[in-house]
Amino acid sequence: MLLCNNIVRTDAPAGYRPLYPKLFTEVKPSGSLSSKKVFIFDMDGTIYLGSAVFEKAVRFIKRLRSDGRKVVFFTNNSSHSGEFYLKKLDLMGFSPDRDEIMTSGDVTIDFLKKNREGRRVYLLGNSELRSDFEKAGIDLSCTDPSEADIVVSAFDTELDYGRLTFACRAIDLGAEFLSTHPDFRCPTEDGFIPDSGAICAAITAATGARPVFFGKPYEQTVLFIGERTGAERGDICIFGDRLYTDIAFGKKHGITSVLVMTGETTEDDLKNVGDAQKPDIVFEDMGRAEEDVFVD
Ligand SMILES: [Mg+2]
Repeated sequence: MLLCNNIVRTDAPAGYRPLYPKLFTEVKPSGSLSSKKVFIFDMDGTIYLGSAVFEKAVRFIKRLRSDGRKVVFFTNNSSHSGEFYLKKLDLMGFSPDRDEIMTSGDVTIDFLKKNREGRRVYLLGNSELRSDFEKAGIDLSCTDPSEADIVVSAFDTELDYGRLTFACRAIDLGAEFLSTHPDFRCPTEDGFIPDSGAICAAITAATGARPVFFGKPYEQTVLFIGERTGAERGDICIFGDRLYTDIAFGKKHGITSVLVMTGETTEDDLKNVGDAQKPDIVFEDMGRAEEDVFVD
């Protein structure tokens, strides 16, 4: 195990980062990893990469459950529904329960239900996310930008120019601007594709408005996971491969942050990161995590 008292930053394109608020405010976590009760796992780059599953992650996660620990699979990727990830993780051998899987879309829906009941929403999101919004009873019926109270921008891989224009005009007319998550780039086996943060940057450029984000590393996600698991922050740890979402989530909220070097962060990133942004723990892979948690 490599213990880092100080660490990095990451990968957002330099020209876009200044658009968004400071992500990192350090809060010291408490307790050792072996004492944690809830283990949050990012998905891509952490427990699998594209379609390649990390077998050490499968073994570690099954052992955590057997030991009575709670497991949460949390992804910022709102282009798919929880049901999609349930099937994917099951096929990969993680044997997930539906209530172990949470997405930034789930956090956004929860916020809208509790805080924006009855408001009309224009959603820039895929059909899977649209279906989840509709199942939750969120009104997506507006047909003119003047009718939208809120624009929710997500990782919309079905985006077209007409929908982008609709969203921009609605915001220009006063609609609130929310976004499921801030990630700029999504890695794929063929190279990166523009993610939710990049779509938001286009809207911001056109309207001057900046979104309120959900997902990691934001407060609403801590509240959502806390409510679903019943755990205190000091009992939670998060495993991830990305500094400005996964590790920032821990650093901002007093949750132990564990970086795994199986995804996007490089050794150079770690060398260059500032003290307030360093993960608490860095593991080469999930096998090392298992050794650390289950100390004989
Ligand atoms: Mg990841």
